[in-house]
Amino acid sequence: MSTSLEIVRIPVLSDNYVWLMREPQSGSVGVVDPAVAGPVLAEADKRGWKITHILNTHHHGDHVGGNREIKEATGCTVVGLGRDKARIPGIDVTVDDGDRYRFGEAEAEVIFVPGHTVGHCAYAFKEQRALFCGDTLFALGCGKMFEGTPQQFWHSLERLRALPDEMRVYCAHEYTQSNARFAVTIETDNRQLMARRDSIDAARARGEATVPSLLGEEKQTNPFLRADKPGVQKAVGMAGQDPVKVFAEVRHRKDVFR
Ligand code: ZN
Ligand code: FE
Repeated sequence: MSTSLEIVRIPVLSDNYVWLMREPQSGSVGVVDPAVAGPVLAEADKRGWKITHILNTHHHGDHVGGNREIKEATGCTVVGLGRDKARIPGIDVTVDDGDRYRFGEAEAEVIFVPGHTVGHCAYAFKEQRALFCGDTLFALGCGKMFEGTPQQFWHSLERLRALPDEMRVYCAHEYTQSNARFAVTIETDNRQLMARRDSIDAARARGEATVPSLLGEEKQTNPFLRADKPGVQKAVGMAGQDPVKVFAEVRHRKDVFR
């Protein structure tokens, strides 16, 4: 059976996005990475939606901070990666790489994407073209490498890159403008990137969100998805080198970028 997802962006804290979604046939309502509870419960309430699920991508406080309060208020089921269950508050259901998790009449493929943390996953609703990727992939960026290795992180990004261009990237932070400022210092002759930077600046000047983005656009412009591309390799003086090393260099440059 084919169904849709109604997805709502809830901006919280300084730059987090919590995603609230409803699958209309079953009435299931999911929250992806509730940093906090209050604004999420209020938004669901306002819409008359009853939260049935929390889907967590990883253990950081700005992704699981609202778990317990939302679970207490709604009795919802908390879903997260089994291998990191000790760090996911209130977890009820554990999933693993390759699992198909049924959310109402929709289905998410669970993709294990270590790098930002060693217990990070993404939820890919392929039919609905929605990718919830937490802090692994950002619009024009990627998460900081807090726990994983460049090898792990690059492999994770390669797996996300293998998904269809039409997927929308529902990442967890509005970092796009500063990511763009950095990206243009890497691929200085990528015209699609320059144009995207300009439209991001314009959108932010109007106070608009830049997330979700389109995965196809990320593939063409996000330097962290392009460590195997000649333009990026040449730009960091590493032509023909192992993409893992190139990725590590680009990640390092972003870490020290001001
Ligand atoms: Zn994080
Ligand atoms: Fe985060």
